[in-house]
Amino acid sequence: MPVVDVSGLTFTYAAGTSPAIRNLSFQIDRGEIFGFLGPNGAGKSTTQKLLVRLLRGYEGTVSVLGHDLAEWGAKYYEEIGVSFEQPNHYLRLTGSENLSYFRRLYLGRTRQPDELLEMVGLAGEGDRRVAQYSKGMKTRLSVARALLNDPQLIFMDEPTAGLDPVGGRRIRTLIRELKEAGRTVFLTTHDMTVAGELCDRVAFLVAGEMPIVGSPAALKLVHGSRTVAIEYHLHGSPGRREFPLDGLHANAAFLALLRDATINTLHTQEATLEDVFLRVTGRGLG
Ligand code: ADP
Ligand code: MG
Repeated sequence: MPVVDVSGLTFTYAAGTSPAIRNLSFQIDRGEIFGFLGPNGAGKSTTQKLLVRLLRGYEGTVSVLGHDLAEWGAKYYEEIGVSFEQPNHYLRLTGSENLSYFRRLYLGRTRQPDELLEMVGLAGEGDRRVAQYSKGMKTRLSVARALLNDPQLIFMDEPTAGLDPVGGRRIRTLIRELKEAGRTVFLTTHDMTVAGELCDRVAFLVAGEMPIVGSPAALKLVHGSRTVAIEYHLHGSPGRREFPLDGLHANAAFLALLRDATINTLHTQEATLEDVFLRVTGRGLG
């Protein structure tokens, strides 16, 4: 049974004239890192807010952890973890105090604040007021808070946004560790590199609609063209050419280069997830 099962999900904001998201259908299995990818305004945060019950009044059916979303009460928040795109901490409290405060809201077992700070790379920063934290530190504190109750299912909205390379790597490693521990992660991001590296499957979201879902590798195979690029010297002049990987054994121009030129480099070119996105949606991530 999937951990998240969404069918025909459609939602219109009270202030909106047209739906912010339209007819979304997808399933997420236990232990999966599921990436939700799309440009700004696509409806990613709206979808996450619906799935964590911050927004109500959708059309379609959603079942999470074996129950219809509408039937979950307050106990839902004992089972899931959520980190928001806009961190909402108490700025006058320290990082540790924030975690201790939110920790008390749970009925079940919770993790130690120090352990969580360590997990997100904030060890040693727990006694500083959050007002003094950088944007990236606040984001990481959000991720720590989402893990207080050691949830089965974790929603993360742009958890690597605004992080420096070291902080970003720390969070990516943490997400992988969560998967290894059997947790399920719903990862919202507009960072294709993060998604391609981490996610078992990704869903593209564009203008509220979801044209495609699949594993990064499968999407690249189906929608990306694979080529081989050669840099060479021929009769004393440098050159570079690309050839399609398919039919390479019978490609006369390629074989002639192999025979006559001095090859400097020879690389296969994989489609990136960004290439696939561009090809499928006809637009970039902006
Ligand atoms: P994303 O997270 O992919 O950047 P959002 O889910 O935040 O996108 O927004 C999707 C669409 O819904 C956008 O057109 C946005 O302007 C609109 N929207 C978001 N929040 C509200 C709101 N509270 N009221 C009305 N429209 C909203
Ligand atoms: Mg968003």
